[in-house]
Amino acid sequence: METVTVKINGRDYTVPAGIKIIDAARIAKIDIPTLCYLKDVNEIGACRLCLVEVKGARGLMAACVTTVSDGMEIYTNTPKVVESRKTNLELILSTHKKECLSCIRSNSCELQKLCLDLGVTDENRFAGKNNEYEKDESTAFLVRDNEKCILCRRCVAACQNVQGIGAIETINRGFDACIGSAFEQPLAATSCVSCGQCIVACPVGALYEKDDTAKVWDAINDPTKHVVITAAPSIRATIGECFGYEPGVDTEGKMIAAMKRLGFDGVYDLNLTADLTIMEEATEFLGRVQSGENLPLITSCSPGWIKFCEHYFPEFTDNLSTCKSPQQMFGAMYKTYYAKKRGLDPADIVVVSAIPCTAKKFEVRRPGQSAAGNGIYDVDYAITTRELARMIEKAGIRYRDLDDETFDQPFDIGSGAGVIFGATGGVMEAALRTAAEVILGTKLEKLEFEEVRGTAPIKTATYKLGDLEVRVAVASGTKNAKELLNKVKSGELAVDFIEVMACPGGCVNGGGQPVQSAATKAAVDLKAKRASILYNADSKMALRKSHEDLAVQKLYDEFLEKPGSHVAHDVLHTHYIKRGL
Ligand code: SF4
Ligand code: SF4
Ligand code: SF4
Repeated sequence: METVTVKINGRDYTVPAGIKIIDAARIAKIDIPTLCYLKDVNEIGACRLCLVEVKGARGLMAACVTTVSDGMEIYTNTPKVVESRKTNLELILSTHKKECLSCIRSNSCELQKLCLDLGVTDENRFAGKNNEYEKDESTAFLVRDNEKCILCRRCVAACQNVQGIGAIETINRGFDACIGSAFEQPLAATSCVSCGQCIVACPVGALYEKDDTAKVWDAINDPTKHVVITAAPSIRATIGECFGYEPGVDTEGKMIAAMKRLGFDGVYDLNLTADLTIMEEATEFLGRVQSGENLPLITSCSPGWIKFCEHYFPEFTDNLSTCKSPQQMFGAMYKTYYAKKRGLDPADIVVVSAIPCTAKKFEVRRPGQSAAGNGIYDVDYAITTRELARMIEKAGIRYRDLDDETFDQPFDIGSGAGVIFGATGGVMEAALRTAAEVILGTKLEKLEFEEVRGTAPIKTATYKLGDLEVRVAVASGTKNAKELLNKVKSGELAVDFIEVMACPGGCVNGGGQPVQSAATKAAVDLKAKRASILYNADSKMALRKSHEDLAVQKLYDEFLEKPGSHVAHDVLHTHYIKRGL
């Protein structure tokens, strides 16, 4: 690796050639303040918060866009630098609706932290005329409050550069510039896929999920309702971050203990219906291999991906697995099989799912998601990891002090295959564990399908299962899914089974997960760190294959008959819409 030597605040450092000053400073253990910068996503030098002095340069330089050179002398903390940053921050504040006391991002706001760090005491130094904007609340999942927007364009970059979608842009010019959609349409009128990657990119409180927690509290406090909550695999890998744990700390037992203190009538594991999804999907795959129809089979548990496919690749909707997502299967089973078993009226049951995903707020109201019929949705409310954490905080529960507890029966048993659903490649690996044992008729010696693990944008592999050669592909992030499907469409890539997750890295990096600052994202590989919790948990479990989950077998024995049966289709499968653009 080619290196250069730079001087940072008077000390010499050898750093890789070609990196930016901001990365060199990080090597020197110095965080340069930023607002618009998001490593590898948005590096545009717009906010002027990362200004530094470079010896010999005519003015201050933006550290996020200036490349180091050999012998460069950089000063990150001179009075001139500090004063310039402070002035730029005060200019940003001049058009910002300051509501720190009640703002959803208070305590996790990068603007608020910078004001404290840089000692801004006069928030209104440059106060003047401000534009007024109506909030965009047109979608099921998101609120855009442009009066808090600081025009950093991180959301635009996340949507365009990371997701390859471009549902939002900077519109209008000069003082009237704001973030919106083409022709100033509401977001719901665009091909936005509800992934929420713009939310987790936003440094302030201008973008946030539609908060359903008040409706959940109302249900809990209604004595006529039977209210249950189920936790998706990936949120146990991340919710600790909302309570001050470093990324990569598993707090599953505390999460369950906290959920049990909120007043739900049942706290259940979604891993069981992840196993059920695998039973149905693996059966569907084997059926399609036999018939030769609608191959490649494409997974369907990511609702952001489903909406992307419906908009951008409607010709592939027949290839989608008809399986509902694990969240929807849980609600469907609870309001049919379990309601009957417990003598409950499905109309009195409220199913809440705690999920890593904003697209699931859209999914719960899709057509074809009502196994109990009569307009009763399978799932009533989908709340993000952040919303669940807010409920726990509101209830005054001291999360860090809780002792571990376990999920309630009968939805308390799930396999390791269900756990790894939360990481890119996890659904594919889970399906392969089951499909391989069914095809081979023997037990696999090794359950790890390493080729589909990891955070690479697109992964491909071929597995020989007896006489059958199964060619698989895995993509996470809709931009990567687009690249993969274009290759399949052109004939460049031949595959039988595809897994797609809308969010880069899968659900562990979903749009409903805890927000982390740009500095943390630059320093920590969040996707890998969070996924490692799931793979570690799986490796320690005795039950690691969906078809060996006795609780799932019981569901088939008592209600569903067998995978792919008529009743299974009625309750656990759905249909899609060819939306187009
Ligand atoms: S976005 Fe940040 S600075 Fe603005 S009101 Fe919210 S917490 Fe305060
Ligand atoms: S939710 Fe996803 S698709 Fe929609 S605007 Fe945000 S990043 Fe773009
Ligand atoms: S909405 Fe948030 S991420 Fe987007 S430009 Fe405004 S402040 Fe930046």
